[in-house]
Amino acid sequence: MDRLVVDVPDFPEPGVVFKDITPLLADPEGFAAVVAALADAGRDADGTVVVDKVVGMEARGFILGAPAALALGVGFVPVRKAGKLPGDVHAVSYDLEYGQATLEVHCHAIAPGERVLLVDDVLATGGTVAATRDLVAACGAVTTGVAVLMELSFLPGRATIGAGGELDVTALS
Ligand code: 5GP
Repeated sequence: MDRLVVDVPDFPEPGVVFKDITPLLADPEGFAAVVAALADAGRDADGTVVVDKVVGMEARGFILGAPAALALGVGFVPVRKAGKLPGDVHAVSYDLEYGQATLEVHCHAIAPGERVLLVDDVLATGGTVAATRDLVAACGAVTTGVAVLMELSFLPGRATIGAGGELDVTALS
């Protein structure tokens, strides 16, 4: 997979090395393998599906999470940036390096008590996952797993989201 994810220096701003996954998406075998591996995070050791919904975060979480949901045979729920969803929403704001961001989910997209797998491309500081988990909780549901393509292990993402315990974090690389 590593050859299909390209490091882009100084994007989107100087000093940041951006992981570009677009070559992976253009490679059908690599893309399929990654989706299958992400979907496995929603199964137990016997292969039984143990989640009721997959939630993907805008925007690359849509690309990876939607096919993972289909592979599991469960519904997909998009978490979007503020103002994009037409229905009643729960909203959570969180701090970025500069400023704030707000994520939203449709209130009735996830039923109380449902078990949710979050899917995204990169776990960096953990702010996006933490905010999304709060949105899932606002629906009365529980995030049982997080599956990402990559984690930036020099950042405290796992600590921020409290990985371990009840929250199972799968990073493919
Ligand atoms: P965090 O909230 O954990 O700091 O950042 C994770 C979010 O930012 C993810 O939704 C991810 O898509 C995006 N992100 C942060 N850094 C990168 C990167 O280097 N490459 C890609 N593709 N996305 C990134």
